[in-house]
Amino acid sequence: MSDYLEQKIKHAPRSPGVYLMKDAEGGILYVGKARDIRSRIRAYFGGTDSRVMVPFLVSRIGDIDFIVTETEKEALILENNLIKEHRPRYNVFFRDDKTYFHIRLDPRERFPRFQLVRRPKKDGARYFGPYPSSGQARETLRFLQPIFPLRTCGNAELSGRKRPCLEHEIGRCPAPCCGLIDAAAYDGLVKDATAFLEGREKGLVADLRGRMQGAAERMDFEAAVVLRDRIAAIEATLEKQRMATVAATDQDVFGVYREDDMTQICAVLIRSGNIIGQKVFPLIKVGGETSEILSALIKRFYDGEVYIPAEIVLPEDMEDRDVIAEWLTDKKGRAVSIVTPQKGRGAALLAMAQQNAKNIFRTERLAKDNPEEALKLLMERLSLKKRPERIECFDISNIGGALAVGSMVTFVSGLPDKAGYRRYKIRTVEGADDYAMMYEVLKRRYGKKENLPDLIMVDGGKGQLGVAVSVMRDVAVEGIDVIAIAKEKSDLPGGSRLRGPTQVAKDHDRIYLPGRKNPVNLSRFPTALFLLQRIRDEAHRFAVSYHRQLRDKRDAESLLDAVPGLGEAKKKAVLQYFGDVSHVGAASKEDLQKVEGIGKATAEQIYDFLRK
Ligand code: SF4
Repeated sequence: MSDYLEQKIKHAPRSPGVYLMKDAEGGILYVGKARDIRSRIRAYFGGTDSRVMVPFLVSRIGDIDFIVTETEKEALILENNLIKEHRPRYNVFFRDDKTYFHIRLDPRERFPRFQLVRRPKKDGARYFGPYPSSGQARETLRFLQPIFPLRTCGNAELSGRKRPCLEHEIGRCPAPCCGLIDAAAYDGLVKDATAFLEGREKGLVADLRGRMQGAAERMDFEAAVVLRDRIAAIEATLEKQRMATVAATDQDVFGVYREDDMTQICAVLIRSGNIIGQKVFPLIKVGGETSEILSALIKRFYDGEVYIPAEIVLPEDMEDRDVIAEWLTDKKGRAVSIVTPQKGRGAALLAMAQQNAKNIFRTERLAKDNPEEALKLLMERLSLKKRPERIECFDISNIGGALAVGSMVTFVSGLPDKAGYRRYKIRTVEGADDYAMMYEVLKRRYGKKENLPDLIMVDGGKGQLGVAVSVMRDVAVEGIDVIAIAKEKSDLPGGSRLRGPTQVAKDHDRIYLPGRKNPVNLSRFPTALFLLQRIRDEAHRFAVSYHRQLRDKRDAESLLDAVPGLGEAKKKAVLQYFGDVSHVGAASKEDLQKVEGIGKATAEQIYDFLRK
């Protein structure tokens, strides 16, 4: 460190504020905030900040500027603005230019109406949403309009009409333009619509019921029918939304999925306890801790024109959680909490969001799939003998050695070829010996030396690779490339390998090649890596589904063990006769008696037991 920098750090303020790290030319490299600027800066140079990017950043720092603030919250706001303005290279910069849709209802208008708008303004109108797409917002409007028939025309048309328009003819507007509804009745409609949009459907339904009864008592059956239909429509939506949360709060639940330096984040949007949609953030390509990425994203996202819910649910805690919550509370004008639940409904919602993030990542990648390019890259990067036109991949599935099975999937020209899928029931291995099982499966497949592939792939690390290589040697097959793919999971803060139910999994797949000590990292060639991952996942899925099938059959058969008076010999006879336990379950008492050794009493017991 230069003397200049050393002096500057020595005299840095010990108060809250923002620091700007610059390179020798004055370009801003990084903007950060701190409760105590001096000790925060020291952490960079003293080696106590373990973030991956820190050594690279520190080696480029030529100067540091400080801006002191009154509070840490002010520092956070300033940091956010400076990051937006300068987009420093070492900050996690989150781009989100997408706009959201809102439904606007201005109670000050003469005969208010629904309007679809992109950005809410501070103009005294009510805004409902956000809806992540115009489609979802329009869908809500399509639903609202017949139940709460507010006018759809503009102000000029409202004042200029001499006769109602078609909307009135088809029952979608009570025609305030021509005085066919009085202001108080129209106002009632607006209030009901507002209650619905605010998520107070239950209270609204109770109120509407009271009004319907009143109308019926007054013998105003026309009004009663309108109210009855309105109640039915609202109740139908309530039913649809019942899948949502127990607590009727507004929450944004963030799911994160990471693979190497790629992070996919999505937020499940919950309003008044109902899931109303999902916000998908663009793929972020940056290393670093998940908590750091989340912190940057949360600050940037809620800084925009976006609705702030009462609760933000995250899969990992953030260092500056309290100050962000305080800032959001100020912005919203009501308490906002940021939580990381480990159990209960919150954890279940988080798991759902996490799964969504993973699915989005995978589907996005699938969409960008390019088998041609992938095969070319694989050949180059793994130094294969030939282009892997036909790839066969193997996986093993068992629980503690029980019901062990193996699977083989075939990909031709980078695409699955289901006719080439095979499954194997392990015959020769006792106990949970995955290597021996893999040996058996590969030997059964390649022993006949028929229809050989260009590339053999096994799920596993060096051990599995060694097995595959020795099988090829034992069956004397040459000229085929063999690789193994292994998933490595790690990278929890502090290097811990313990993982809570909601913590973010970071997957790193590595490729093992014969004769090479260290695995190959293909993360810089995602097209190639993704093809291998897809093939491995497919082999895994195929093995697991076969294993499950066998397990279900065994479980079903073990049901017969519990039938009183049915010994082993009779059970075997029954299964042999019907072939499958499901057929036993469907059999009549008379059919059961057709089995040798099964009398009337036993047949009745089997029949009654299986129905119970
Ligand atoms: S009936 Fe009148 S108030 Fe209703 S939409 Fe038509 S013009 Fe507007």
